[in-house]
Amino acid sequence: MRNLAADDELRFLSLNTATVRGQGDLLTILDAAARHGISIVSPWRDQVQDVGLDRAVRALRDGRFALSGYCRGGLFPTDADHRAEERGDNRRAIDEALALGAPCLVIVVGGLPQYTRSDAAPSHDIADARAQVADGLAAMLDYAESVGMPLALEPLHPMTAAERSCLNTLRQALDLCDQLDPQRSRGLGIALDVYHVWWDFEVMEQIARMGRDRLLTFHVCDWLVPTTNLLTGRGMMGDGVIEIRKLRGAVEALGYEGACEVEVLSDDWWRRPIDEVLETMIERYHTAC
Ligand code: ZN
Repeated sequence: MRNLAADDELRFLSLNTATVRGQGDLLTILDAAARHGISIVSPWRDQVQDVGLDRAVRALRDGRFALSGYCRGGLFPTDADHRAEERGDNRRAIDEALALGAPCLVIVVGGLPQYTRSDAAPSHDIADARAQVADGLAAMLDYAESVGMPLALEPLHPMTAAERSCLNTLRQALDLCDQLDPQRSRGLGIALDVYHVWWDFEVMEQIARMGRDRLLTFHVCDWLVPTTNLLTGRGMMGDGVIEIRKLRGAVEALGYEGACEVEVLSDDWWRRPIDEVLETMIERYHTAC
């Protein structure tokens, strides 16, 4: 297992740019990252769109940043009237990921239609939402495979099932991988986020089932007790109850040598100065990951 405490050059630390989305635009974030010696980032689509794709590509290149992912595509469940819109949007997400040089596009699949895409006709049928996810992902994978962009399915904690993701466990995500890519040859894999899987009693055996080839990126933060916001109540590593090192040990036992991507969606951290957040993040990368 890698000794991150000794990684003074931050070779394996990635900043998911949503961690400091409250403090400025993507260009501001990249400047701050460079100041702190961070050389790997994972930007979000809305942040790229705010500054424009061309400017984002240039800033990443000029700053010699590598990417650990691009967040995010998916959000499949909708109604028949909005199906074409969803398919087009996901195709664009793949094109953007290619332009940015991302190693994978992270997929958050969506929940019930009315909370996933605006204007979609309401439904309470979560089984239908899951069927739509399988269909939408199949279509998306055809295009992604043809242009060589791996798709990283991120299972989300079940508390997000209505609004954000009806894909809730690693087992469920791997079942979908087996269904759509049984030969493990099409570039469909997993974004494993400790925040979403730490509670799962079968996570260790499912990590072993996943294997190195299906692990595309690894996200860290912490689970606060109590958790008071379903989306923006995440903690900095070391402030909560997740056994981050145990989970990292399990993925590194598979042979994973990629980034530890820090993704803290937090009203609390978004209110603090960006340098304080990044300093704390680096310290915790060394001591709590
Ligand atoms: Zn994540």
